[in-house]
Formats: sequence, structure tokens, C-alpha cells
Amino acid sequence: MKLPANFTFSQSSIQDYLDCPRRFELRYVLKIRWPAPITEPVIEYEHHVEQGLQFHQMVQQFVNNLPLELIFAGATDPDLQTWWNNFIASAPIASYSGKKYPEYRLSIPFEGHRLVAQYDLVLADEKTGSAVIFDWKTSRVHPKKEFMALRAQSIIYPFVLAEAGLPSFMIQPEKIKMIYWYPNFPDKPDIISYDIKRHQHTAAILKDTISNILDTDQGSFLLTTDTRRCQFCNYRSLCSRGEKAGKLDQLEEDVLDIFQSDSLDNFDFNETPEIRF
Ligand code: SF4
Repeated sequence: MKLPANFTFSQSSIQDYLDCPRRFELRYVLKIRWPAPITEPVIEYEHHVEQGLQFHQMVQQFVNNLPLELIFAGATDPDLQTWWNNFIASAPIASYSGKKYPEYRLSIPFEGHRLVAQYDLVLADEKTGSAVIFDWKTSRVHPKKEFMALRAQSIIYPFVLAEAGLPSFMIQPEKIKMIYWYPNFPDKPDIISYDIKRHQHTAAILKDTISNILDTDQGSFLLTTDTRRCQFCNYRSLCSRGEKAGKLDQLEEDVLDIFQSDSLDNFDFNETPEIRF
């Protein structure tokens, strides 16, 4: 299957392909919008998504040096206030120096297309040649560290940064680390290191994954065999995988459990160096 020349791969599209090839086809190739909730209660889910967006905006304002009282004034939601207080008390950025790149987007040419990464924050220190990628996760459940290390995001973000560099300097893979910081769990960040072996292995994995996508004919993308995933997928009625969305209170625990069980079997990280946390 030939994708348009301007097709851009991202951590979301790669993750969708790994979770369910058919979902990748429906979402990114056929671009089918299917108006079904991902989970229920819908209002609660949408509220949680909105809270997450607001938290990201508040941190961006913080990084851009807006006065704290002005930032906090917009946080009327109790969860958001707790997250913000945790952020200020824990100061996850404070121990790192360098130039701040909030809401920063990089893309590189890759396998005839582009590969993009949209960072919540990159903190780059030209003196030491190092960079820290921060990603804010407002989930209610803290995922296992091993799970986060194997997410498409965790391999694509450092990879793109190492390949693209920043305006003033390039960054060696060994000098990159990625930190997932959870406002609900301020004392349990996941810190994922990176190095040249992981970089080379990531390149091979991404090439292989994209090659598999390009070698699949339209209409031949397989549906996931794990129907539990379909409970939280908006295409479930289109795929004849049920009508009713899964419950929000099961979303993060069950879906994370599903992901942990097999979605990353496509990734062979057996050859990668040990990931330190
Ligand atoms: S409903 Fe299931 S099979 Fe269909 S796209 Fe979603 S995850 Fe894949």
C-alpha cells in the first residue's frame, strides 16, 4: 500500500498500529470518523481529558514565567488544583538546567515519509550537551515502568530528538533522558534513559514497523485478536466488536493490563540494553 508522500508518522499512529493494525487503517489511511464514545460515562471521560489539557496549559504558562497566582487563578477544578499544588511542591523541572522548549515539535524524514514528535517540554543544556524530555501524564493509575518504557512514545521521542537536534546543537543519544511525570503520583516519575544501542535498535524497529505497514494492502490490515481492546475503541460497532463502550473506571487499569500483556510483542527489545529507571 502506498501512503501519500506527505503522510507523517507519529507516536500515536505507530502505537495504534501496534495495538490494532485495523485501527491504524481506519484512522490514518481511510480517515474514518466514527462518532462513538471511547468510554463511559462520556461526560466524566471528557472532563478528565479537559482537565489534562488544562494542566498542560498551566505548566506551559509556568515554563513561560507567568506569575504563579495568575496561573492558579484559572484552576477552579479541585483535581486540577491538587495536580498544580503537587507540581509546585515537587518541582520536577527544578533540578535540571538549560534552555526550555515547551510544546515543542520536531520532525525528521524517515523511510520516505516524516516522523514527528510533539514534546510537552524539552530542557536542553548546551554546556553539557544533554537534554531532558518531560511528558506530563494525568492518568489516575500509575502504569508499570516497564510498560511506559516500551510505549511508542518512549522510543520515538528520544529518537527524533537525537536525529533532529535542537537549533543550536545536536544531542548524542547517551545525553538524552525522558521523564514521565504524574501529577497524581508526584513522587513516582518514570525516568527512561537512552543510548546509542537503544537508538540503533529503535531505528531498526521503526523501519520494520513502517515497512510492514507499507507492505500491507488496503483492506488487509488485521483486527486485533484481543477483543478487550475494542471496548475502548470508537470503531467497535464498525468492526462488529460490540456496541457499548467500556467503563471509565476500568479504562486505565484494564487497558494498561491489556497493553502490558501483549501489545508490545511486536517490539523485540530483547536485544536492547537494560533500561534504568
Ligand atoms: S474495534 Fe477492535 S478491531 Fe476494530 S479498530 Fe478498534 S481495536 Fe481494532
